Amino acid sequence: MDVKSSQASPVLADPTPVNKSRLGVHSSLLPSFSTSLSAVPRKKPGKLDDVRSNGWLDAMISSSPPRKKAVKDFNSLSDEADIPYLSWMIRYPSALNSFQLIMDVARNRKLVIFLDYDGTLSPIVDDPDQAFMSGEMRLAVKSVASHFPTAIISGRSRDKVYELVGLTELYYAGSHGMDIMFPAKNTVCRDELNCVKGTDMEGKEANLFQPASEFLPMINEVYNSLVEITKDIKGSKVENHKFCVSVHYRNVDENSWAVIAQFVHDILKEHPRLRLTHGRKVLEVRPVIEWDKGKAVEFLLKSLGFSNHRDVLPIYIGDDRTDEDAFKVLRKAYRGYGILVSAAPKESNAFFSLKDPSEVQYFLESLVKKVQQDDE
Ligand SMILES: [Mg+2]
Repeated sequence: MDVKSSQASPVLADPTPVNKSRLGVHSSLLPSFSTSLSAVPRKKPGKLDDVRSNGWLDAMISSSPPRKKAVKDFNSLSDEADIPYLSWMIRYPSALNSFQLIMDVARNRKLVIFLDYDGTLSPIVDDPDQAFMSGEMRLAVKSVASHFPTAIISGRSRDKVYELVGLTELYYAGSHGMDIMFPAKNTVCRDELNCVKGTDMEGKEANLFQPASEFLPMINEVYNSLVEITKDIKGSKVENHKFCVSVHYRNVDENSWAVIAQFVHDILKEHPRLRLTHGRKVLEVRPVIEWDKGKAVEFLLKSLGFSNHRDVLPIYIGDDRTDEDAFKVLRKAYRGYGILVSAAPKESNAFFSLKDPSEVQYFLESLVKKVQQDDE
């Protein structure tokens, strides 16, 4: 397969309105006004109609396929339910089955690896604090980083993702790429207004690129407000990722989703310089700036000295809607390959797919094996 071959994929807007009939969710199944309010006695949000009419609820319902169903579907390939997945894989072939094709394109080019964290290196779990990667995965990532420049680009804060990954040989970008650490010797920072000097995890001098630094006080204020107004919603969890805030509703009763959405909606109304993105059972509040994981990929390629398209083949592996920005950048400029991690059919700007983190691990191990064979 040629890297320039085109594959028609719709562009995902954010948030993506999802047709109710396609989801099979009738409006009567959506939470009622009175039921929702009864679950939250302490403070009334604004009009719940807001979040219904603007498609938030639909996007929340469709933000993540039911995990048990997705696993069942994959493990029973004879099921009729697998037919959509198998036909989807024709459009997004397995990166494992296409491994040789990818290696053929990578010949004489330097591979640069970009990895999302949650749902890519770690399983999606009910408690985001428990999203640990396995020891085997850590070893696979470490081995890949010893052969190829490797960066983690996560929605979490940079400190938190480093704490979870614990490898000093990687580059880290937190807050959806709004907090990037890269080597101090680099010269890109001279041209960039938002660069500051910092120290890396080992205390060595490093550069920090933080395009949303002016939003820091606002994000803290919004975090505190969201913690306060959601504290009586059982199962909700608000996380401060430094330059963005996540409101998790995975463990919240579906009858309270409208309330949680309305609280976030009301906060955004008060802060027009912030916007919403939908993740997997999580609402994310972030600054309205022209910056995302795609821009972070471009910035890292430039700052690490890999701007020349012909010499470099970037590969980005991720599972979330925010990773689509990175897939788009790689697809648009015919620069490299996006690999979507998904056990269920999903529209994407990626070229290839992997089913789950265990396949990601196998793919990374295969990269290492290939380079070791070539060295022999
Ligand atoms: Mg993810």
